[in-house]
Amino acid sequence: MMPLHLYDTKSREVLEVKETNGLVKMYCCGPTVYRDAHVGNMRTFLLSDLIRRTLLMFGYRVSIVQNITDVGHMSEDYEGEDKLLAQSKTEHIDPLAVAKKYEERFHSDLRQLNIIPADKYPKASESIGLMQDLITQLIARGNAYVGSDNSVYFDASSFPGYGQLSGNRLDSLKPGHRYEYHDDGAKKFHADWALWKAAGDRTELIWDSPWGPGFPGWHIECSAMSLHFLDGHVNVHVGGIDLRFPHHEDERAQSDSVTGNETVDLWVHGEHLLFQGRKMSKSAGNVVLIQDIAERGFDPLALRLVYLENRYRSQMDLTWETISAANETLLKWRTLVSKFSSATPLQNEEIWQALSVDLDTPKVIQIVRSIVKDPNLSDEMKAGYFLHADQVLGLDLARAEVPRELTAELKRLLDERDFVRENKNWKESDRLRGVLEEAGLIIQDSPTGQEWQWR
Ligand code: AMP
Ligand code: ZN
Repeated sequence: MMPLHLYDTKSREVLEVKETNGLVKMYCCGPTVYRDAHVGNMRTFLLSDLIRRTLLMFGYRVSIVQNITDVGHMSEDYEGEDKLLAQSKTEHIDPLAVAKKYEERFHSDLRQLNIIPADKYPKASESIGLMQDLITQLIARGNAYVGSDNSVYFDASSFPGYGQLSGNRLDSLKPGHRYEYHDDGAKKFHADWALWKAAGDRTELIWDSPWGPGFPGWHIECSAMSLHFLDGHVNVHVGGIDLRFPHHEDERAQSDSVTGNETVDLWVHGEHLLFQGRKMSKSAGNVVLIQDIAERGFDPLALRLVYLENRYRSQMDLTWETISAANETLLKWRTLVSKFSSATPLQNEEIWQALSVDLDTPKVIQIVRSIVKDPNLSDEMKAGYFLHADQVLGLDLARAEVPRELTAELKRLLDERDFVRENKNWKESDRLRGVLEEAGLIIQDSPTGQEWQWR
């Protein structure tokens, strides 16, 4: 077996991935299903897929658990309201119907990106008992206490290693600092956090508990699920860099206090995605979904290629131009490979080396590009290298391209442009040309009308 080394946020070192009883156990923080996941979220989900595919290629067995957060993740924008409840008011549907809708869309996005499904997708709302058991244990061990408001809090000072993961040491955390939404409640110390929140006047998404009706905190969810479904130990824990603190710092304190040892071997964090230079967010108005990529006529797997061209630990900027260029590359590679789709897969030692040292995917893509250009290799051999590498790249390189069809929306826009040209409305005609070109078409006007082709 080839070893895989990954950067561990806690030790700040590149360490070898370990297995437990012949299995690499991975936990990947999943989506909060109150909205569509954007392509930034997808970058993090693709990171766990990349780790898994690399481990499989290197000969390991892997098991992945990814949680679905459908309760307990409080919003910063709605006065600390549960994200699911806030969205249920906006959409005028039941909170669990909101969760179901976005969970289905999340799985559809994963399929479009060729992400191998996790072995288990536990839901927070179906794991309340697990969380309550863990909280009971934490209280019994003196790591948690019931506040005068009937909420249960973790006592941060009871865990000596608090702060080692994120570098936020307890004595430097200031009261009132917004590291946790304002849930001061009855906690004894500003750095403590709620494991169980008393219902107060909330009536939906609440459960009975030994401490009265209420709902779980967000951090306890990941401790409860990882400990239960991965049998008390996690070899690789994956999430976006924003989760390092407080989410993962708190998860580590909770889990380690119960297991009595270091529960997670490696904490792997993916850097954030920017879009056209700015952090992707609703307020910045630059949220891009997988669906938007498909609607512009691009293969969603072009996004996979763009992400592979960047190292997971670097912040990266996405633009429509990079997606378009990757889409072209993908088509060229498929044209080459699909002619020899039954070629014998050929292992490339350099690719394995590049992956082995903290997933140097930009180098892998560089090697792949040099294979394409190599005059000493036959096309069949090139296809063989591609087929082997595609186990990790996940780009569907053996897929024979079928001519792309126009979407109904693009057809409508072309018809509309025909119509406005007949009426000599050149301004509108130019505007529509812009929209069509943005969507990936090339438009040419001739005396007999407009002609189009894919870019
Ligand atoms: P959420 O649904 O907001 O809880 O996020 C799901 C996952 O996406 C978490 O691992 C986040 O750290 C990650 N994430 C959020 N925004 C970005 C971004 N812009 N780029 C990369 N990952 C992100
Ligand atoms: Zn988590």
